[in-house]
Amino acid sequence: MDQALSVQERVRGFLGREQKMLIGGQWVSAVSGKTFPTVNPATGEVLAHVPDGDAADVDKAVRAARRALEEGPWSRMTPAERSRLLYKLADKIEERATEFAQLETLDNGKTIRESANIDIPGTVEHFRYFAGWATKITGETIPVSVPGHFLNYTRREPVGVVGQIIPWNFPLLMAAWKIAPALACGNTVVLKPAEQTPLTALLLGELIQEVGFPDGVVNIVTGFGETAGAALVNHPDVDKIAFTGSTEVGRKIMQGAAGNMKRVSLELGGKSPNIIFPDADLSKAIPGAIMGIYFNQGQVCAAGSRVYVQKGVFDNVVSNMVDYSKSVRLGPGIDPQSEMGPLVSNEQFNRVMHYIERGREEGAELLCGGARPDHLSNGYFVQPTVFVATQNDLTIMREEIFGPVVVVSPFNDIEDIVKKANDTMYGLAAGVWTNDIRKAHRTAHLLKAGTVWVNCYNLIDNASPWGGFKQSGIGREMGHYALELYTEVKSVWVNLD
Ligand code: NAP
Ligand code: MG
Repeated sequence: MDQALSVQERVRGFLGREQKMLIGGQWVSAVSGKTFPTVNPATGEVLAHVPDGDAADVDKAVRAARRALEEGPWSRMTPAERSRLLYKLADKIEERATEFAQLETLDNGKTIRESANIDIPGTVEHFRYFAGWATKITGETIPVSVPGHFLNYTRREPVGVVGQIIPWNFPLLMAAWKIAPALACGNTVVLKPAEQTPLTALLLGELIQEVGFPDGVVNIVTGFGETAGAALVNHPDVDKIAFTGSTEVGRKIMQGAAGNMKRVSLELGGKSPNIIFPDADLSKAIPGAIMGIYFNQGQVCAAGSRVYVQKGVFDNVVSNMVDYSKSVRLGPGIDPQSEMGPLVSNEQFNRVMHYIERGREEGAELLCGGARPDHLSNGYFVQPTVFVATQNDLTIMREEIFGPVVVVSPFNDIEDIVKKANDTMYGLAAGVWTNDIRKAHRTAHLLKAGTVWVNCYNLIDNASPWGGFKQSGIGREMGHYALELYTEVKSVWVNLD
């Protein structure tokens, strides 16, 4: 208890002081002197003001990252030294896990159970996983067939200065997914956190300095997408942009990056189908469908927002989902009793409410939820919401809502469901629930998605690739796949004659 209190005090201390951003190893205000507020979505209260970085600050950060890459000690460090720094950083985050979890919950709204059990430990393990890779990034020797005697081998070299733009749904975890592989491969970084949730990235910056990463290896610029984000995307001295967020912004990033042919990796939205066959173990499939949509208030790129249930078990699944949805205890994420917190912002609240309205107008049947609970009128809370619909062309069946809103829809057989499930511009993830092993694999092979979960949902692992088909993205994060995003391959020829 005492310890919990003292952590709360540290968090209050962090929130109470003037927030600065990290550029070239220095904590600085924006060149313009401007700041913007970040709010607690459970109450609407301002938590802190952070620097409103724009093109001038991004330019300083890119220069610092370039210097650190070309001149600093970073490029002379051995892989083992880079690895040790990443392990140290993981240990430091772990030591201060409760503080990170509380700060994340206050800034983002997610329940403390989720930030303490998923976001922060996931961050720690992600840094550890890529700390291990730093010493294992190898090239190949290639048996070339040209006449004569040659040694041909490849090297994997850092791409260079990497701009990283992240969303607000898993703020610290997304920072880790970006920074860890980039540093393992020897790049330098300019990170722009989401305007809604900049705080844990700033605390992470402190620890990055504390464990001894050389100045300028990681720079953190807080600011808005249209200014700081766009400046990073358009900067001629940035070699690569790694982005997670909406497909709409992802498209702008590809265009902006074209100027100097930046490498681009994109992890974008989804409208993932979660498919329940009648022979599934419903005692697992129903909770799987519920968790698939309500985890993190539905603000998950892989959210199973289209639940397809084969006729025969449809009514059973729907009534169980509705009963559960009505029983969820909404409240501030910082209260350990809360089972679901608020959405991240007023803007997101309005966006989700707009989709609920569209669903009603277009004729989907609203079975429960659809409003803000009366007793939580200050925060951006939306009740768990279940629609039933049969047409795949409704707006709520096609667009990413990014809230606790699910559409349940019936299907006839494999052929029917594969067609419906793939009838989307997205292709991030999908779930399949069945006890028939042939049906499970056949369906998994036919779905156009970067990840298919059979009899489970929302599982990720640092070793397993993550990314999207179609307009859900380009490239794969996690596992050895992430090394491809952060290295250039060089082919070296040596004439042996
Ligand atoms: P977003 O606009 O795509 O934001 C993601 C990141 O990109 C933020 O850091 C954002 O900055 C930045 N950004 C915005 N416009 C930019 C630009 N023109 N150039 C460079 N960077 C830019 O997402 P959002 O507005 O926060 O949320 C909108 C929708 O996106 C959600 O409803 C959801 O559908 C989707 N989304 C998907 C994911 C995912 O994991 N796939 C995550 C978040 C959101 P600001 O912080 O200033 O906006
Ligand atoms: Mg935005």
